[in-house]
Amino acid sequence: MKGFPAFLRLAGQPVLLVGGNGEAAVPKARLLLAAGADITVVATTLATEILDWARAGRLTVHRRRPVAEDAGGRALVIVAEPDADGVAVAAAARTARIPTNVVDRPELSNFIMPAIVDRNPVLIAVSTGGASPALARRVRSWIEAVLPTGLGRLARTLDGARQGVNDTLPSATQRRRFWDSVLDGPIATRILRGDEGECPQFLTQLAAQGRDLAAGVVHIVGAGPGDPDLLTLKALRLLQQADVVIHDRLVSDAVLNHARRDATRISVGKAKGAHSWTQAEINALLVHRAREGQRVVRLKGGDPNLFGRVGEEVAHLRAHGVEVEVVPGITAATAAASAAGFPLSHRGLASTVTYVTGHGADDSEPDVDWQAAARSGQTLAIYMGLSRLATIAGRLTENGLAGSTPAAIVESASLPTERRFIGTVATLDRLARDNRLTGPALVIVGDVVALAQAEPASRLLSIAS
Ligand code: SAH
Repeated sequence: MKGFPAFLRLAGQPVLLVGGNGEAAVPKARLLLAAGADITVVATTLATEILDWARAGRLTVHRRRPVAEDAGGRALVIVAEPDADGVAVAAAARTARIPTNVVDRPELSNFIMPAIVDRNPVLIAVSTGGASPALARRVRSWIEAVLPTGLGRLARTLDGARQGVNDTLPSATQRRRFWDSVLDGPIATRILRGDEGECPQFLTQLAAQGRDLAAGVVHIVGAGPGDPDLLTLKALRLLQQADVVIHDRLVSDAVLNHARRDATRISVGKAKGAHSWTQAEINALLVHRAREGQRVVRLKGGDPNLFGRVGEEVAHLRAHGVEVEVVPGITAATAAASAAGFPLSHRGLASTVTYVTGHGADDSEPDVDWQAAARSGQTLAIYMGLSRLATIAGRLTENGLAGSTPAAIVESASLPTERRFIGTVATLDRLARDNRLTGPALVIVGDVVALAQAEPASRLLSIAS
């Protein structure tokens, strides 16, 4: 280990900052202010932020060249401008065994400043032992990505409940089990969401009742159209925490590979020939796993809120007292439009976007108002329409939509196997049959499709070279 990790308590402690420029000194001053230090800045030029802080009485400034004596009696010295004077101050500070950091000069420092993730009061410090500050920043952003934004709120709320719970639960083992169950269960989910309300009192009551809190939370998570880069940060985080991932057939392997390696994966998709799960069986499985205290992620293609039967699952879980949270995802329609290079709405072309299903239950005609769907000035995004394209095109033209209206089919949007076809309402069915579509496909009808720009392969190559 190249350094000893520690967090310094600097509240009210005298600290010297040498340098007053905007790039190096201001960020250090900001950090020191956040730590509550008693700051003295010595520099010949001072950035406006530092002058403002001095005027507000938050730090002291001396506008002059720094001298070695400035280091005397300090709890910490930071040299943000390592010119000859700054280096001399640092040398004096090190001789006096004062923790000293010279910005970008580790060889002149006896401590280095880590990259930090600040979710007050949670503070994470990252160091590569000086090997690569760029890598430290990268590690920090990886950590940022997996930590919930509400982490600080969670820490503060738990802190508020700590005394009460500790008074209620005398044994350390009991307390540890209690806090783990709070963090694994629906209460933490609520606090992270911003619903902390009466949590501290509530937690104390729960501790007194000796209730098992872990049981019962399911996250219904949107897996997006297939490319894992299109997962939300929250989806990624939940996937990495899940004990069991219950997923539809459409969810791509690339997305599933982001789950923990030891997590149980259960496919409840309706694959041809294989046992297909009924909705009732899926509902029962969700409740069963949640009650066992597992962290359950129910992963659905695209956005669970669109043609995802999310309503049934949410109602069932609520009826059985299981906490449930729905995490939205990128739906196939927006992914398909981006892939094909046109927007779903466009001033003058489409001010309405309608999502329709091409399929009713059991292959029947869906309950769609085709007359409304056929009106011009809108974009229609048709899900599950592939096997009924001739009928759909017929319904649209019977109700007055021109057969020449532009239409697109995007197969496996965002996946490596993606294919895009542009035609018209009249040619949709032919387009699908001639190209033997096999993956999931989204059909988009409307004048916006005309904005699609075919990207000739030659142009792509010239960009790459
Ligand atoms: N909840 C999903 C839709 C589920 S219905 C969402 O928001 O996207 C399943 C239909 O979605 C498929 O029949 C197909 O029409 C569409 N679909 C899902 N993933 C797709 C993809 N990657 N490319 C094109 N269409 C897709």
